[in-house]
Amino acid sequence: DRNGNGAGMGHEKLLSPVLSAFWDEPESWTLETYRRHDGYEGLRKALAMDPDDVIAYVKEAGLRGRGGAGFPTGMKWQFIPQGDGKPHYLVVNADESEPGTCKDIPLLFANPHSLIEGIVIACHAIRSSHAFIYLRGETVPVLRRLHEAVREAYAAGILGPDALGSGKNLDITVHAGAGAYICGEETALLDSLEGRRGQPRLRPPFPAVAGLYACPTVVNNVESIASVPAIFARGKEWFRSMGSEKSPGFTLYSLSGHVARPGQYEAPLGITLRQLLDMSGGMRPGHRLKFWTPGGSSTPLLTDEHLDVPLDYEGVGAAGSMLGTKALQCFDETTCVVRAVTRWTEFYAHESCGKCTPCREGTYWLVQLMRDIEAGKGRISDLDKLNDIADNINGKAFCALGDGAASPIFSSLQYFREEYEQHITGRGCPFDPARSTLWA
Ligand code: NAD
Repeated sequence: DRNGNGAGMGHEKLLSPVLSAFWDEPESWTLETYRRHDGYEGLRKALAMDPDDVIAYVKEAGLRGRGGAGFPTGMKWQFIPQGDGKPHYLVVNADESEPGTCKDIPLLFANPHSLIEGIVIACHAIRSSHAFIYLRGETVPVLRRLHEAVREAYAAGILGPDALGSGKNLDITVHAGAGAYICGEETALLDSLEGRRGQPRLRPPFPAVAGLYACPTVVNNVESIASVPAIFARGKEWFRSMGSEKSPGFTLYSLSGHVARPGQYEAPLGITLRQLLDMSGGMRPGHRLKFWTPGGSSTPLLTDEHLDVPLDYEGVGAAGSMLGTKALQCFDETTCVVRAVTRWTEFYAHESCGKCTPCREGTYWLVQLMRDIEAGKGRISDLDKLNDIADNINGKAFCALGDGAASPIFSSLQYFREEYEQHITGRGCPFDPARSTLWA
């Protein structure tokens, strides 16, 4: 129904656990468990191929970046110049921090060897002998587990001076960040990794041309790299049999908010929120969906009219939003949209690195206006002002953080302008905050 409380299940067949296939097994994170599930099989096949053929294979499989932007992974690898005499680096972005996004960290915790196997394949393809994993520093248990998995891989001869008997060196360095949202932006991440304050660099040049230590660098998301081994183990046709023509394959969705069973759900791209809610028990009992984000708070929010939008890059784009990180935050009718957007806007203002004026100043002013409106002290003219400030950030900031801050403003005003007006004319929030479990 329109509340997302589907009665019939029957969508199990849409589930395609690959990355999360054995998360609930005891000691799922060890090399032994991974090997028992055919781990490092894809690597065997990929290493038998020429590096250029590996890149072509990933391109033909159609894998797109899972960090949010959906950039074709194989194409990114192909950008790395060959025979340039410079070192090439692979940097895995594990600084997951988009609000609502919780897929890479659980993946690393439960199945770190899928990432390590993917790293070895990617390094073979781009002719790199050193990969870095930039991990969100607060996740200390994940850091320990990752260190342990890398140690296991060295001990098994998968990494090291004669990696897999190839006569070539391959090292992985695990680096813990200090917990800044901006350091998930790929160029700020590179600055941080080099020991500087994490602030975005102007692109171009893209990292593929001048990345870590000014050398050609591939920056890929954890899930993108961890998805590579299965493509080689099971074949590109198998991968293409899931999802759509332009967005093939399986992916991890993070379902959170007022849902009965929040968590990570692995399914093909192109599944709908209605189907995911069916699989996960729907909205919490007695409540209905009011609004949701397809890819965390930086993607324009959608409403209950969008329950059947295919969750792939094209489908969500056609609905006026972005697939992003596939972080489906679902809010029911007890949630005040003005309050939710205020909270997100405070996050962006807090995390703005301050390097560029539109984002630094704009997010500050958005917070002032949103707080006033939420507290019943706003004016009707503030609504145009909100749109105007967001417009002066959007596309004019140094990096995507600014666009992310503008998205919830634009989209909430588009769908819920009346609710903003109620706060202004009624001189306060029409919602009883006590009824909202998320915002109480
Ligand atoms: P982008 O589209 O600018 O770039 C995507 C990737 O493609 C980058 O690696 C970039 O280097 C590469 N690229 C693009 N054009 C290129 C070219 N001409 N030559 C070489 N390489 C090229 O997106 P972005 O600004 O890197 O990231 C924005 C996305 O990040 C958003 O979609 C958002 O959903 C996502 N995001 C994710 C998180 C998270 O926690 N995972 C947090 C915030 C934002």
